[in-house]
Amino acid sequence: MMRSLRTQLSLSILLVVLVTVALISVFSNWFINREFEDYITKQEQTRSENIVSDLGVQYNSFTHSWNQDFLHTIGMYALYESYILKIYDVDGNLLWDAENHDMSKCWQVMDEISLRMEKWKQDGGFVSHTYDIEKDGQRIGSVSITYYGPYFFSENDFRFINTLNIVLLTIGILAGFFSVVVGSLLARRIARPVVKTAYIAKQISKGNYDIRFESETNTRELDALVSAINHLASALNEQENLRKQLTTDVAHELRTPLAAVSAHLEAMLEGVWEVTPERLSGCHEEVQRLGNLVADLERLAKVEGDNLRLNKSQPDLLEVARAAFDTLEAEGAKKKLTVSVRGESSFVCADRDRMLQVVINLLSNAIKYTPEGGAVNVDVTDTEVNGIIRVKDSGIGISEEELPHIFERFYRTDKSRSRQTGGSGIGLTIAKSIVAAHGGTITADSKVNKGSCFTVAIPKK
Ligand code: ADP
Repeated sequence: MMRSLRTQLSLSILLVVLVTVALISVFSNWFINREFEDYITKQEQTRSENIVSDLGVQYNSFTHSWNQDFLHTIGMYALYESYILKIYDVDGNLLWDAENHDMSKCWQVMDEISLRMEKWKQDGGFVSHTYDIEKDGQRIGSVSITYYGPYFFSENDFRFINTLNIVLLTIGILAGFFSVVVGSLLARRIARPVVKTAYIAKQISKGNYDIRFESETNTRELDALVSAINHLASALNEQENLRKQLTTDVAHELRTPLAAVSAHLEAMLEGVWEVTPERLSGCHEEVQRLGNLVADLERLAKVEGDNLRLNKSQPDLLEVARAAFDTLEAEGAKKKLTVSVRGESSFVCADRDRMLQVVINLLSNAIKYTPEGGAVNVDVTDTEVNGIIRVKDSGIGISEEELPHIFERFYRTDKSRSRQTGGSGIGLTIAKSIVAAHGGTITADSKVNKGSCFTVAIPKK
């Protein structure tokens, strides 16, 4: 059966409190009763002994007689304390008998005690003990004391023990009541954020990514849950925006070359334009550019999605830089650039192939955006925590306003667009994603017409 968190918590707390109170009641009751019964039993014995010694005092050794008045007083006094006396002289003659004096009082005492002790669930009954009365070491008579045994409670005793039990019971009931109140308040405090989080999660699953959990719960675990949900919502929101942005960007990037090719082909088909090898090759170039764009997009999807699985080893960045140089050496030579690789070995914790891709992207940009006769230099330095690659060129540079945007997808500076260098604006985005996946940084410094310097730092551990 499914129960709410609130009910479960309240019930658990109630159960714990009830068991605790019950245990305390049972044990304290048992202990106090035992001690109290012990005390009462001892008290009764002392009382019997006192009666016997009081009686002995009443005997006059000279006249060998008893003071009847005092015997009567002692007997009646004892009767009111629920001891029924029968006093005999040394020869066994009855001197004083409670039953003879006040029969009805005796019955009343017996009834009251029996009733009281039955309530107490004490199995007992009236018992008689006979004690010798002595004076100066001489037996002068005897007394039979009848009382409820093994022990009995006087009115006051009974009231005391009853009050004690009532106090314990009251404490139990109050504690139970408070436990229910506190339990339900506590449960409410815990359950409310959980219920709200569940609601928010549901909203998120419906695509409502703007929803957030505002209030603090003051409970560490619940706060963690809440912030995880908020984080999830914002991450999904970001993903969603990225997805929308990407679709728009791709559509935008594809539209222009497609429109151009389509217009040119249409013109040739309709005979407006004569079909010449130059025009066909123009179309062919555009189609190739589209092909390159699609290939770049595929690479971007690989590094930007969750699919970027790094195959980490300890590659030497200097060796990586040389490999990139080998790949692009011919291009540099074509533009009569002086391309060089310098620096020291630096072993970092990285995926070698991905790092090679980063350096190739940077180096090919440097070659692409440096006019003939310029210089491109790759420099590797080793610091305590990072391996650093700098790709420097003496090329066209990037303006201050455009510099912050060059790592954005499809971004190309006006200068590079006008030069028709054919880039799709994805190379740096890919480089940045790879570097970020390694926990590294990539930065760019540039001055228009002076050249640019891209710096990549990759952690060694
Ligand atoms: P692309 O394929 O167009 O080169 P990138 O993402 O690699 O795309 O670069 C984005 C833009 O940044 C380029 O179009 C260019 O305008 C600029 N850029 C990148 N590297 C350099 C550089 N070394 N010198 C000047 N401009 C650069």
